[in-house]
Amino acid sequence: MPSAHPSIPAPRGTLYPRARSAVPAFLVAVLLVLAGCAEEPAADLLILGGSVLDGSGSPALVQDLAVTGDRIAFLGDADAVGLQALDTVDASGLLVTPGFVDMHSHAVLDEDYGRGAEAFLHQGITTVALGLDGGGDNRIAARMQGWADAGIGVNAMLWVGHNEAREAVVGMEDRPPTADELEAMKEYVRAGMEEGANGLSSGLFYLPGNYAETAEVIELNRVAAEYPGAIYDTHDRDLGAAYPPFGYLASIEEGIRIGEEGGTKVIFSHFNPQGAHNYGRAPEGAALIEAARERGVDVRAAQHVYTATQSNLRSYTVPGWAVAGGDTAMIRRFDHPDTLALIDEQTREMLAIRGGAHNLLFADPRPELNGRTLGEVAEAWGLPAPEAARRILREDNAAVMNLGLYDAENTRILAQEPWMMTCTDGRNPGPGQNVTHPRVYGAFTKKLREFVVEEELLSWPFAVRSMTGLAADFLGWSERGYLREDLKADVTVLDPTEVEDMATYEEPQQFSRGTVHVLVNGTFAIRDGEATGALAGRPLVRLGGEFAGS
Ligand SMILES: [Zn+2]
Repeated sequence: MPSAHPSIPAPRGTLYPRARSAVPAFLVAVLLVLAGCAEEPAADLLILGGSVLDGSGSPALVQDLAVTGDRIAFLGDADAVGLQALDTVDASGLLVTPGFVDMHSHAVLDEDYGRGAEAFLHQGITTVALGLDGGGDNRIAARMQGWADAGIGVNAMLWVGHNEAREAVVGMEDRPPTADELEAMKEYVRAGMEEGANGLSSGLFYLPGNYAETAEVIELNRVAAEYPGAIYDTHDRDLGAAYPPFGYLASIEEGIRIGEEGGTKVIFSHFNPQGAHNYGRAPEGAALIEAARERGVDVRAAQHVYTATQSNLRSYTVPGWAVAGGDTAMIRRFDHPDTLALIDEQTREMLAIRGGAHNLLFADPRPELNGRTLGEVAEAWGLPAPEAARRILREDNAAVMNLGLYDAENTRILAQEPWMMTCTDGRNPGPGQNVTHPRVYGAFTKKLREFVVEEELLSWPFAVRSMTGLAADFLGWSERGYLREDLKADVTVLDPTEVEDMATYEEPQQFSRGTVHVLVNGTFAIRDGEATGALAGRPLVRLGGEFAGS
């Protein structure tokens, strides 16, 4: 049963004991050297008296945290060592954590409306993973240079995508690559890895990735595996609602095999079985991951805790064979009586798997679509839903949410796994796009609000670890993801009683509450709950190194 009362942090001295104030002599010496003389402030910033969760999963300790430049200069009792700073904030009663890592993001940082990443910062996120679902192109250095030149609000890292490699070489053809084409795809991946990609991403649910056999992806993942720390990131072939079904468990097995035979770690993106027919089946998928981990494959996953997905109308309503050759070929099949009859029949089956046309909610800039369901649009047009979908697709693909696709109970089970990280899977909306998935604004804060504060399903240290240290370990970072002296100062300070997602499906564009301060590389991106407009994020290459310029 969910608790009726939000959990309130215990008073000092019980759950959050003050750190032992005995300060090692060498540290005092270091600080005195840093200080130069006793009156000069030694640090740029002191965050005083917060309950520090360092990202390891250990209980909170009341500590002061000092920042100098872009690094954490000190953790402990600032008074005891006489440490002063140019700037001070009082964090008593607040939690001080590492900045959160969004392990599966679609943050748009390349355009002015998205560069600041405010929706993400207000959740405490300081780093986003991009180029996922098979969709990252291999011009990693050029993209990072663009970010470095224009500035970005959060740190960002990139994957090189299988779908991009396949489309660049084979186009939208539904066939295996020739030997030469496979070599060209390998070169595509290699170029991305050379420029600092974290690994290969796939979207085997999507086109043209879905046209690929498993062996093709293994071959490409072997190229990624030549680079230390490479991670295979997959939106797997069938999260449970694919058409025709490949199988929820078969799909997980395939993802593990690609990592295991390719020689990389594996992360399952937004991991959660889809469709009412898979409600309650999370333990079966989790068991496959556990078994792989036991035989030494580093397999993990990331989640958000919403029950809706967001993707595109074509993927949700048109079978893959009907899109072979691209959108022009698809429209030709819409216009041919033989193929149309089969498409229409299969679209009906696809809609049934997804809970019907009234569960597909558009998040598309077109005003006649945005905020309405496919069912509503079809009724307004006086058309059956499959025909309405085709009419939309003749113009362009459309962003759409699938409400109720995930089972909240499955989500709770998976949240408790020690290998489960956290993600938004969110794309910040473009100008004029009023409706978007609320996860863009609230994925991390919703997990904290519901699973930690309200339901007490997760402890604070465990939940924060799923957003910080767990990701840092997986990514092979040595400079971020924990609160430790000398690490980069990505820091989130939140109010454990106030933290809350405010975004809803009806009113999604509402920043989260309770994230009081957010530092990105030592600079305030959020201060006293307000965005500062700082663009302090940095592009990160594989293993967490900072992009040095192309
Ligand atoms: Zn995805």
